[in-house]
Amino acid sequence: MWMIVASGNGAPGMERAAQMLREGGTALDAVEEAARGVESNAQDESVGLGGLPNVLGQVELDASIMDGRTLAAGAVGALRDVEHPISVARRVMERTAHVLLVGEGAGRFAAEMGFAPRELRSEDAWRQWYEALGGVLSREEIDHIAQRQELLPVVQELMEEKLHHGTVNFLARDQRGDIASAVSTSGWPYKYPGRLGDSPIIGAGNYCDNRYGAAACTHYGELAIRCGTARSVVLYMKMGMSVEEACQEAMRDLQPLLAAHGGSMTIMAIDSKGHPFGITSELEEEAYLVMTEEWDSPRLVAPTRFLV
Ligand code: ASP
Repeated sequence: MWMIVASGNGAPGMERAAQMLREGGTALDAVEEAARGVESNAQDESVGLGGLPNVLGQVELDASIMDGRTLAAGAVGALRDVEHPISVARRVMERTAHVLLVGEGAGRFAAEMGFAPRELRSEDAWRQWYEALGGVLSREEIDHIAQRQELLPVVQELMEEKLHHGTVNFLARDQRGDIASAVSTSGWPYKYPGRLGDSPIIGAGNYCDNRYGAAACTHYGELAIRCGTARSVVLYMKMGMSVEEACQEAMRDLQPLLAAHGGSMTIMAIDSKGHPFGITSELEEEAYLVMTEEWDSPRLVAPTRFLV
C-alpha cells in the first residue's frame, strides 16, 4: 500500500506526490516533488522561496533526501540563491561520492548541475528581518551589519526567543514497498551565517531504511543533532519497538535537553509498512498530514503530546 506523510505545511506538495504514488511512481521521486512544491510556496516563511534570512539578511537553505532501499543520501547546507535545495541534495546523492555539500561549494555544485540562480528573499521576509534587527540595533547599524566584527551578541539576543519556525518533512512508501524521506528548511531565522540545523544532517533531522522505517524532525535542530534523533527512531524500530514506542523513546532521549534549553521538538515517523506516527513537545500541537491509497484527500492528524 502506498502512503505519504508530511508536516502540516506540506499541503502544497502533497497532491502531486500522491498522484505520482498512485500512478506507480517511486517514493524517492514523490518526496522530492513534494518538497519542491513547498519550496516554491513563497507564503511559507520556513522553507525555500520566502524563507526568513540569517542575521545578515541572506536566505540560507538546508535540505536532505534519503533512499531507504540503499541508504543512499544527499544533503546541502547554507545554500544560497537556489529555489530547490532538495533537488540539489538529490544530485549530491546521485552524482557525487559525497553526502553533504555546504555554503560556497554547494552553490558552485548547484550551478554546475544547471540550477539557475534565484532571489529567495521576499519583501515580507526582508521587512520582518529589518524589524527583528531593529529591536537590537539602530537603523544605521543594520545598514552596515555586513561590516560588523561582532555578530554573536546580535544573534544571541535574537535567539533568546528560540524561534524554531518550521521545516517541511515528507516520508513516503510506494507501491513496491520502498520508502524515502525528504526534509527542507530555511532554518532558524536570523541565525549566525553558516549555521546548519538538523535538516541536512543525515541521522539527526532525517533518516530512512526500507527494512525498518523512516523519521524526520522539526523545531530545535541542535537538540536533534545532539541526540541523533531520526537515526535513533529507526534504530529503535530495528530493535523491535513499534513506530509509536520508537518515537516515545527518542523523545525521552531528548527530554533532558529540552528541559535544560527550552524550545521544542516534533518527530514524524513511519514503519516499514507505512504506519505513521507523530509526536511533539509543542504546547500548541500542529497537525500533520497523512494520505494513503484508501483516501481521496490528505487527512490532518494531531500528533501525540510529549510532556517535557
Ligand atoms: N529544525 C530546523 C532547524 O533547526 C528548524 C525548524 O524546524 O523549526 O533548522
